[in-house]
Amino acid sequence: MTTTQPLELLAPLAGVLLPLDQVPDPVFSSRLIGDGVCIDPTSQTLCAPLAGVISTIQDSGHAVSVTDDHGVQVLMHIGLDTVNLAGKGFTRLVEEGQRVEAGQPLIEFDADFIALNARSLLTLMLVVSGEPFVLLATDAGLVETGQPLLRVAPLVRAANDEEEGDALFSKPLTLPNANGLHARPAAVLAQAAKGFKASICLHKQTQSANAKSLVAIMGLQTVRGDTLQVSAAGPDAAAAIQALVALLVAGCGETVVGMAEGVAAVAPLSSATVLRGVCASPGSAFGQVVQVAEPALAIPETGGAEALERAALDRGLLAATQALQTLQAKAQGSAQAEIFRAHQELLDDPTLLEHAHDLLATGKSAAFAWNRATLATAAMLQGLGNALLAERAADLADVGQRVLKLILGIPEHAWDLPERAILIAEQLTPSQTASLDTQKVLGFVTVGGGATSHVAILARALGLPALCGAPAQVLALVNGKQVLLDADKGELHLAPNLAAIEQLEAARQQQMLRRQREVAQAALPAVTRDGHHVEVTANVASLQEVEQSLSLGGEGVGLLRSEFLYLDRNRAPSPEEQAGTYSAIARALGPERNLVVRTLDVGGDKPLAYVPMAAETNPFLGLRGIRLCLERPELLREQLRAILASAGLARLHIMLPMVSLLSELRQARQILEEEATALGLARLPKLGIMIEVPSAALMADVFAPHVDFFSIGTNDLTQYTLAMDRDHPRLASQADSFHPAVLRLIATTVKAAHAHGKWVGVCGALASETLAVPMLIGLGVDELSVSVPLIPSIKATVRDLNLADCQLIARQVLNLEEAAQVREALNQYHAATVETSWVVEN
Ligand code: PEP
Ligand code: MG
Repeated sequence: MTTTQPLELLAPLAGVLLPLDQVPDPVFSSRLIGDGVCIDPTSQTLCAPLAGVISTIQDSGHAVSVTDDHGVQVLMHIGLDTVNLAGKGFTRLVEEGQRVEAGQPLIEFDADFIALNARSLLTLMLVVSGEPFVLLATDAGLVETGQPLLRVAPLVRAANDEEEGDALFSKPLTLPNANGLHARPAAVLAQAAKGFKASICLHKQTQSANAKSLVAIMGLQTVRGDTLQVSAAGPDAAAAIQALVALLVAGCGETVVGMAEGVAAVAPLSSATVLRGVCASPGSAFGQVVQVAEPALAIPETGGAEALERAALDRGLLAATQALQTLQAKAQGSAQAEIFRAHQELLDDPTLLEHAHDLLATGKSAAFAWNRATLATAAMLQGLGNALLAERAADLADVGQRVLKLILGIPEHAWDLPERAILIAEQLTPSQTASLDTQKVLGFVTVGGGATSHVAILARALGLPALCGAPAQVLALVNGKQVLLDADKGELHLAPNLAAIEQLEAARQQQMLRRQREVAQAALPAVTRDGHHVEVTANVASLQEVEQSLSLGGEGVGLLRSEFLYLDRNRAPSPEEQAGTYSAIARALGPERNLVVRTLDVGGDKPLAYVPMAAETNPFLGLRGIRLCLERPELLREQLRAILASAGLARLHIMLPMVSLLSELRQARQILEEEATALGLARLPKLGIMIEVPSAALMADVFAPHVDFFSIGTNDLTQYTLAMDRDHPRLASQADSFHPAVLRLIATTVKAAHAHGKWVGVCGALASETLAVPMLIGLGVDELSVSVPLIPSIKATVRDLNLADCQLIARQVLNLEEAAQVREALNQYHAATVETSWVVEN
């Protein structure tokens, strides 16, 4: 590098000049971000210290950087920890990419508000591109806006500063920092990157940034949950990737918590003996740590002739489809098979393929184009803030890697695992989970993932205890370390004592024996000791689940979540296909069992790819469920025709979701009657509504004469009663269906229904909680529609109860003050019943 003409930087504000050493924040005083000056402002407009282009301006308006034509980059950061103000108190006057003159106003700020609400108002002006400078003003004196402050000698950058050659790419990672990579973590990352010779890039969707440039990193405007990738080219590329990925996952110097909901912050590894996550699959295991990191893949960016690269991509896609078909056939009838089918569907996605082909047209290699396209799509899905779509993103990343390896000619290798392995990974893919050798693997722990992901579903299907959302420290545990995984409690014990191991082992044995007994008796009816019968049915989303439920003693289907039948589809199923699906399910149940088909509950948390919807500020309170169907009656009519085709094959019930007004029920009934008449049906199937909205529960006596049954959706009823988003990570423990407010609405509904001779079910998750069963029976609920694997244990619980006792406990909990008290009362009741039944059995 050489230097050119010196450049004068003007004071961006009026105020008192302070040396950087006096800034009470080590990230600035240590000059980690860059050298410069600090001003304690007396004015409220931040102006450009030099002419150039706005290279970054944070959405929150607290930081801005200007780059001149020689590459001098100056960052201004107003206040300390002002990122937490989320834009309050700042008004941005310029946009990113805009050319500005020296002295031009960039940001206005409310000094009083910031002084009151942030740690400090001290404002930094830092030369982040690293040029040396001299101070033109007196240290610790007053400066005026626009006064020359620093003289900088610009550097001329060598042409080979840019990344070149083949790059290694890391696996995608999820950014854990609450405020994204703002100045502080970005500085830590850039500093670490500068320690490597390789040129290093940080990628977010289609954007890339030089990882050695603080400004470029900030320019990515990352937020928590973003999917990022690190690439590096050069002699120490692999080491750079490994170090930077570890740093990013650990929060780049900031305290971060796991990405899954309900994860508690943990002490550093050195002192913590228990690491916490979220239970993805219940159970416990004592075994040895086996870290399963996938090696970084070398992905050439530039391709050969376009036709050759296109052919390579097509070959990869074809080979992946064939492999998935084989896996699906092998896993026929299981949860794995469904997932492999969904993966094939993803390979067909037109938007994804179009993106990859666009990149091929610009001369990129097949591997690069495919990788970019899948990552961008996955990141887009993840960024929508929707749990279900975020899970599809994980599936896409999985299938993306499969194709990528096929293009690169990297063989799929099975892991060589020791006995009693507890696998630890950043993230497992559904394919990896599905192919785990359960002879050797006792359980697994991942940093990423969620309790409702496909990986969790598979772990439950395999009976493997699993923890997700664990802190990144787990990745530093040494192979072979003996650990105790207590997934039920969401804990990984790093120094388990013998007593704990034996206790857990004994509990596991007991649980296994209980499960065996319950499954053996699953066919027995759910009748209380004093002869009261409760119908136990299943919540299902596929034919396969219906079959499974019958083998576990399910007495029918209490909730068919019809929107889930087609959740992985890009195109709407044909009317014939829909009718075929409902008829197959009805046939499997037979004419003696109930089949409650819920009409499409799309919207809110459940988008369907082929039912496009406008974005809504408040989707849970917007067009979802029956409201959406009445807005698009053709959708409802088509579905009703398909459902009606199965009439006669089972005891068909049609159920409307999210009903809040009587008029909605009336309109839907009219449509049903018209369609039934058009099909020549002599008798209408039963028609009921879900009670998921407080208005419906409170007006149950008004609805009751117009329906054949109610089914209470406690998941939604809880969120709407307590005004707590059911997916909100911070509210997970408070949005509790055991809250007396929810229970009172259940009581109101049952009373109104029974007064009109109608039956009431509960199909929300509350029905699947053994603890809640006595209370629900006591409240008069006639049917419990539960998650399939829990059917035997819910039936066994009912058989242990007395209706009269249940009525007593139900009356008691209605008068309690909060959910915790209800749980406590039920736990006491449970302990007493278990003792009594033990006495009776013996
Ligand atoms: C409910 O809300 O309780 C329910 C069963 O419906 P879903 O969970 O499908 O919204
Ligand atoms: Mg619901």
